[in-house]
Amino acid sequence: MSGHKTLEDLFTAVGLEGLRVLIRADLNVPMQDGKVSDATRIERVAPTLKELAARGAKVIVLSHFGRPKGAPDEKYSLKPVADALGAHLGIETSFAADCIGETAARAIEAMKPGTVLVLENTRFHAGEENNDPGFSEALARNGNVYINDAFSCAHRAHASTEGITHFLPSYAGRAMEAELSALDAALGNPKRPVVAIVGGAKVSTKIALLGNLVKKVDALVIGGGMANTFLAAQGKKVGKSLCEPDLFDTARHILANARAAKCDIVLPIDVVIAREFKAGAETQTVAVDNVPEDAIILDVGAQTIAHLGERFQEAKTIVWNGPLGAFEVPPFDRGTTEAARIVAERSKRGELVSVAGGGDTVAALNEAGAADDFTYVSAAGGAFLEWMEGIELPGVAALSRR
Ligand code: AMP
Repeated sequence: MSGHKTLEDLFTAVGLEGLRVLIRADLNVPMQDGKVSDATRIERVAPTLKELAARGAKVIVLSHFGRPKGAPDEKYSLKPVADALGAHLGIETSFAADCIGETAARAIEAMKPGTVLVLENTRFHAGEENNDPGFSEALARNGNVYINDAFSCAHRAHASTEGITHFLPSYAGRAMEAELSALDAALGNPKRPVVAIVGGAKVSTKIALLGNLVKKVDALVIGGGMANTFLAAQGKKVGKSLCEPDLFDTARHILANARAAKCDIVLPIDVVIAREFKAGAETQTVAVDNVPEDAIILDVGAQTIAHLGERFQEAKTIVWNGPLGAFEVPPFDRGTTEAARIVAERSKRGELVSVAGGGDTVAALNEAGAADDFTYVSAAGGAFLEWMEGIELPGVAALSRR
C-alpha cells in the first residue's frame, strides 16, 4: 500500500484548534432544478469534515464542479452545493466567491474554529486544470495543511489534487483512506483466488484493463457485449450482436497472455438472445455455438450464471467492473442481477472481499439491490478504472511523496 500520511499522522503532528485545514473534496454532485439530486459524494466526505471541525479546525473545502472553461460561470457555482453540504453536516458552513486571493483570505479570516467554509469552483481558474504552480501556490496560501479526500479526482494531475502538495504538508482523508485500503484488498495484496468480472459494451474501451487484470487475477470473467468479440475471435457466430471484428487479434492476444499468466478466462457458455433490443422483447437462451444469424446477444444465460456461482464459491476476492448484459433494459438485467446477488450474499457472510466500481457498475449493482452487501463499492468512475488498469494516480502518488 502507498505510504501516504493519514489524519492520525496529522493529529500527532499539530494541534488542530484554529488550524486552517484545506480539504480537496469531490463536490461535483448531480443537480436537478438547482438542488442536489444524489448526495453520495457529500455523504462520503462528511466524516472527514466533521472530525476536523470537532477538533476545532477551520475546515476549508476545495472542489471543482462541472466543466467551466477556466473562468467564472454562474451555472457552475458551488454555492448551492455548499448550502446542501452545510445542511447535511449540521455545522455552520459559509461560502467564498473565489478560491484564491483576497476574497478567500477574508472569508477564512472571518471563520470561527470548528466551522466549515466552501471555496468557489477551482475550475473558475485556468490554472486548476493546467496544474499551474502559481495557482497551486495561491490555493496553498489558504491553509496550513492539505488533505485530499477525493479519490474520484485523483486520476487528474490538477492544481487542487497534485500541484498543491508541493506547497503544504499533505494527508489522506478518511474517504481516501477507505478507498485505498479497499483497492489494496482487491488487487494490491488480495486473498486468493481472485476473480475479476469485466462486462460492458466494448473491448476497445477496456483493452488496458483486461491486459492488467490477466497479470493479477486467477480468473477473469468476461461478459456483456465485449464477450461477443472474444467468442467471435474464437470462430463462433454471434449474429447481429455488438461485435468489434477489428479487435479479434487483440482478443486472441489477451487470451494468449492469460494462458501464459495462468489466468483462467471465463466466457459465457450460453446467452440470452432476442431479435430486437427492446424492453420485454421475446427472448431465447441458446448455447454459444448455436446463435442464429438474425439474433442479438443481450445477456448471459442460466448455465453461465450457474457456472459463475461455482467460480464465486471458490473465490476469496472478487473485483467487478461492467454489467454482464444490457442491464438497463429488462429482462436483459437478469444475468447481472443474479451474479451480483451471489457475490453480495457471500460478501455478507464474510466469505469473500468484493470490490466494485466504474461507470455503470454502481447503477447495475444498485438496481440488483446488491450494492449495500458488497465489501466496497467505489463512487469513483474514471479514477477507479485507471486504478484497475494499473495506472499510478497522480493525486495518490502525490500523497505518498509528502
Ligand atoms: P461500459 O460503460 O463499457 O461498462 O458498458 C456498459 C454498457 O454495456 C451498458 O449500457 C450495457 O447496456 C451495455 N451492454 C452490456 N452487455 C451488452 C450486450 N450484450 N449488447 C449490447 N450492449 C451491452
